Amino acid sequence: MDIITLSNNYNLYKEKLLRKRRFKYTDFCQVINKHLDKENINFSEPEFSFEGRKIFVMTYGTGETKILIFSQMHGNEPVSTEALMDFLNFLETDKNWSKKVTLIIIPLLNPDGNEKFDRRNAQGIDINRDAMTLISPEARILMKIHERFSPDFALNLHDMEPHYTSKPENLQTVLAVLAPECDEKGSLNTARKRAVKVISGIITAVKPLIPNRLAKYTDKFTPEAFGDTFMQKGTASILLETGSIFNDKERIFARKIVFLSIVKAVDLIALKGYLHSPIGTYLKLPDNEKNNAFDLKIEKLSVKSNRGDYQLDIGIRRVKKTLNDEDFADEFSDYRIVNIGDLRRFGAIKSFDGSDYVFSGNYSEIFIGQKAAFEISSTKKNEIINIKSLL
Ligand SMILES: [Zn+2]
Repeated sequence: MDIITLSNNYNLYKEKLLRKRRFKYTDFCQVINKHLDKENINFSEPEFSFEGRKIFVMTYGTGETKILIFSQMHGNEPVSTEALMDFLNFLETDKNWSKKVTLIIIPLLNPDGNEKFDRRNAQGIDINRDAMTLISPEARILMKIHERFSPDFALNLHDMEPHYTSKPENLQTVLAVLAPECDEKGSLNTARKRAVKVISGIITAVKPLIPNRLAKYTDKFTPEAFGDTFMQKGTASILLETGSIFNDKERIFARKIVFLSIVKAVDLIALKGYLHSPIGTYLKLPDNEKNNAFDLKIEKLSVKSNRGDYQLDIGIRRVKKTLNDEDFADEFSDYRIVNIGDLRRFGAIKSFDGSDYVFSGNYSEIFIGQKAAFEISSTKKNEIINIKSLL
């Protein structure tokens, strides 16, 4: 499977009914309707979310190796579902895999959360922290299907905040991958080793498209998460986290990268190409650095004070409304200064060279928590910029 050629032909598969990142459940159902009578995809009786929305479960192929693919257990992570619906279009043209693999696909596992653009389900439960207690119907559905199907592999699709970066360049991460841990020690059991090999194959395939923008997601054993639970049960679990690049707020580019990664994963498994992937490719991947990118970094801005003038960098980021730091939230209050000083080790979605500018106010107005609504003036020309206009 040549991923670069597929990347060039991506428009053939891109689901045109899902144009906006914040799609509604009715938009999603329109896409599902398109696939209902396709011959190589079979729909089971739908399952139901807490608020009674249908959760669709579909099967492809009759092969021996079983793969469970599910997206958007976090309602505000829709790009993973968009990429999966692109993959569905691809699947309808492909005939190579149907005798080699059986896929069960569950897109949009949390339709109630998607409707409110909320990470959690209608009960306020984080489905990916509900794999042990199964309080939510969505977690019960996923566990039931996993038990019946007993898949060899699982692809668990998420989106992440845009403020992650990867070393060494501190560029925004477009794709983060993870073979979740199966115990506290971080052992490589048989299932985890298989997952690592598949991920290594994905990395090799997509790296040329996103150099220095690939990272390994945090690998702390989380037994109440599904990836870790499935791994303990012998399913090689693969987590793909859709990131972001520059100002691509709709994540059109990252969506394509995740689509390509899903195709590559299934191809590696179906044709057993993963058996030849070196595990080191995954193990050597840089960690995904949380909150390491600012929305705006103003570099080398001059500040005047009666104790002498100096230069500093200012990091500005949108402030989340949620009180739970673990939640990826898209609801923000406003832009604030979150760091000051020498900020060279941080990345930025936008950078502004402030070396010919001076802070317009008093030095004491630059502090962490300050609203990003201040002005800077040029030392070279008659120009005043309100920082708001740069955001
Ligand atoms: Zn998530």
